[in-house]
Amino acid sequence: MSRKKLLMGNWKMNNTVEETLQFASKVNESSLVKDAESKGVILAIAPTYLSLQALKQNIKGVYVSAQDCHYAKSGAYTSSVSVDMLKEIGVNWSIIGHSEKRQYEAESDFSCNRKIRALLKASCKAVYCVGESLKEYEEGITKDIILSQVTVGLQNISCEDAKNIIIAYEPVWSIGTGKNASSEIAQDICCYIRSIVEKIFNKEVASEMLILYGGSVKPENIHNYLTCPDVDGALVGGASLKVESFKALVENI
Ligand code: PEP
Repeated sequence: MSRKKLLMGNWKMNNTVEETLQFASKVNESSLVKDAESKGVILAIAPTYLSLQALKQNIKGVYVSAQDCHYAKSGAYTSSVSVDMLKEIGVNWSIIGHSEKRQYEAESDFSCNRKIRALLKASCKAVYCVGESLKEYEEGITKDIILSQVTVGLQNISCEDAKNIIIAYEPVWSIGTGKNASSEIAQDICCYIRSIVEKIFNKEVASEMLILYGGSVKPENIHNYLTCPDVDGALVGGASLKVESFKALVENI
């Protein structure tokens, strides 16, 4: 089964609304989307909540994603945004469980599961991030960590709904550090994740699911990952912030 490739930018807390608008117009004026299409690459960008609407209304040919969402429909959850609120402005994707949410805001696999189920119930896409810390990597327990993150995060989900899940393997020690995991590690863990997905759901879901690698992906190294059979794309932070490097990522796929 041949899967499409996905290049997804995670802007974290970067790019103002003004900068987002400039990014969108540069993309629209360039051949970036056409180049990506010709390579069978889907593009997505996750700006801050504040820039979602501006990006959605102004960029063409790029999916717009939130970086997080709440599992409840509405209520007393200060600072949060619900799936319905995202849908109201045409945003049908969200990243869930990014390691910075796990590290700094105590996001758990259980809360990720609630958010993923809220997204799937609304027919939205969930980009679920998993990955081990440096300590866990050094202790040699990467696969144990991945197994529990995937198993808990994806519990109580039907095979039908699972088709809207994308998984991003992002070793915490490689995010924003310039210490990217080797393509052998990325392939090994993405393949392992696919085997867990097969056990939870079935062969069809596993063979269709997009599994990305993330962590210090740059134009210079993206090709190494994208040639791995189980790596279907990349989740990119720093190198996705400027049109020039986003374009270079596409060119080098
Ligand atoms: C990320 O934020 O998901 C990420 C992978 O960041 P960077 O590419 O900057 O390491």
